[in-house]
Amino acid sequence: MNTLPTILLCALILCALGQEVMSDADVRMSRKSAAYIILVSYYYCDYWLWMLHCFLDRKENLQSRIPDIKEFATKFQDHHDFPTKVLQENHLGEIDDLVSGVLGMGLLLGYWTSPATKLIMVAVSLWGSLGSLNHFYGHALTNGYEIPCFYKYGQRWGLLPSAKHHKTHHTAPFEMNWNFLNGFHRVYEAIYFGTGSSYSALFAMFYISNPIVLQTWGVVFGLLA
Ligand SMILES: [Zn+2]
Ligand SMILES: [Zn+2]
Repeated sequence: MNTLPTILLCALILCALGQEVMSDADVRMSRKSAAYIILVSYYYCDYWLWMLHCFLDRKENLQSRIPDIKEFATKFQDHHDFPTKVLQENHLGEIDDLVSGVLGMGLLLGYWTSPATKLIMVAVSLWGSLGSLNHFYGHALTNGYEIPCFYKYGQRWGLLPSAKHHKTHHTAPFEMNWNFLNGFHRVYEAIYFGTGSSYSALFAMFYISNPIVLQTWGVVFGLLA
């Protein structure tokens, strides 16, 4: 992670902790809140990364009128053809702008959101980084490199998507296993195929439920605690 997302991450954590310390004892976070933050952030990030990947793998996005989408879609789909290229790149750095956007929005809306909401956005960024690093180490493993124990055993014990699981995604026609975390990808894929692999549905979900826009919905509708 580069300087900007790291600064934003620390700033959002400090805001959450400062707000928590100044709040009344009866609304303070408990162990239950910690479990809530971890579970909500994990399953949301699992959904979002699946969505992002499935959407960017669509051929339609190679012609997108939005330059960033076109660039990301090209990058994602090039990765199918040249998977080992990822080992020469700063793979985690590729999500820096997205992470900065999520955390920046978290800070902008900070006046209206609770410490728990802020920490959910911090955790979403961290889960996303974990998914990205695990993807990198999965490819390293496939190419015969020794990888850190955390990822090696995380994959072996089924806590993280394994190199073998991701390899299926790299097998033409690249139509499964879009996940970067181990959550509900089978459910998402069943719904996606069951509804005719609709591009319009993915398009709508991508713009409505991404972690930058989602935070504004959370504030507007009071969904997040
Ligand atoms: Zn892909
Ligand atoms: Zn890959």
